[in-house]
Amino acid sequence: MAPRILIAREAGACYGVERALEMVDGAAEGLGRVHTLGPLIHNPRVVADLAARGVSVVSSPEGARGDTLLLRTHGTSPDEEARARALCARVLDATCPFVKKAHVAAARLASEGYQVVVVGEAGHPEVEATLAHAPGAVVVGSADEARALPELRRVGVVVQTTARQALLAEVVGALVGRAEEVRVINTICEATSGHQEATDELAREADVMVVIGGRISANTTRLAEISAARCPRTHHVEGADELEASWFEGAQTIGITAGASTPASQIEAVRERVEELVGA
Ligand code: SF4
Repeated sequence: MAPRILIAREAGACYGVERALEMVDGAAEGLGRVHTLGPLIHNPRVVADLAARGVSVVSSPEGARGDTLLLRTHGTSPDEEARARALCARVLDATCPFVKKAHVAAARLASEGYQVVVVGEAGHPEVEATLAHAPGAVVVGSADEARALPELRRVGVVVQTTARQALLAEVVGALVGRAEEVRVINTICEATSGHQEATDELAREADVMVVIGGRISANTTRLAEISAARCPRTHHVEGADELEASWFEGAQTIGITAGASTPASQIEAVRERVEELVGA
C-alpha cells in the first residue's frame, strides 16, 4: 500500500514573507531597476527566481544608487536605511512588521536606560538590525552566555522572532536574580511558534519527514531540529530536485513541513515529487 503523505497543518510562507513577495512583484512591474538590500528572504530558490526577473541583491545602499531598493524582511540598521533614503530613487520597506516591533522595543528599552539583551543568534541579519537600534545592546544565544555577562542592573530583553520560547525562558531564568530589574518584551513571532508546534505534532506520527526551506533560514533549520528530535529520518531540502527515493523505503507515513520563507508552490512541488517517488 502506498504511504500516506501529510502536510503540517501550519507550514510555509508567513505573513511577512507573503507581504515582501507581493511588494517585490509590484516593484518588478515597472519601477525601473529594482534591488534588494541583502537577500529579500532566506530562500535561495526564491532569490534566484527574482534574479532571473532582473531583481538583484546589493550588499549596501550604495549599490542601488538612483534605483528602487527594497529593504529585506529581516530589517536593516537605522544608518543603512538613512543612506538608502538619501541615495535611492525609491525605498520600499519590506521589513516584516513583527521584526519592526522587536526593533522599536529594543530602541525604546535602550532610551529608557535598560541594558538591552537580544536573545538570538549572533550574526543573523535580523539580530544585527535589532542590535543596531539599541545602543550598547548585546546578543545572547544561551543561558550560559547570559550567566557570563558582566554585572547587570536594569535589563531589557527582546527576542529574535524565530527563537524558541524555551530558549527565552532559559535566558530569562539566568538573568533573574542577577539584575535588579529584568523587563521582557517577548517578540517571538506566532507564525514561527505555530509552525514549530505543527512540525512537532506531525513528526510524532511520521516515519519520514521532509522539511523544505533555505539552509541559511534560521526558522527552517529550527523546524528541522524539532522534527529530527521526534523523527530521526528527517531530511532538510531546498527543493523537490533534492529528494531521493531511498529516503522513503518502508515508510507508511511521510510528513512534509516548510519554513516561513517557503512559498506554497515549493511545498506543492515537493508533495508531487514524493508521490512520484513512492508511487502514490
Ligand atoms: S516568521 Fe514572523 S517575523 Fe518572520 S517574516 Fe514571518 S511573520 Fe515576520
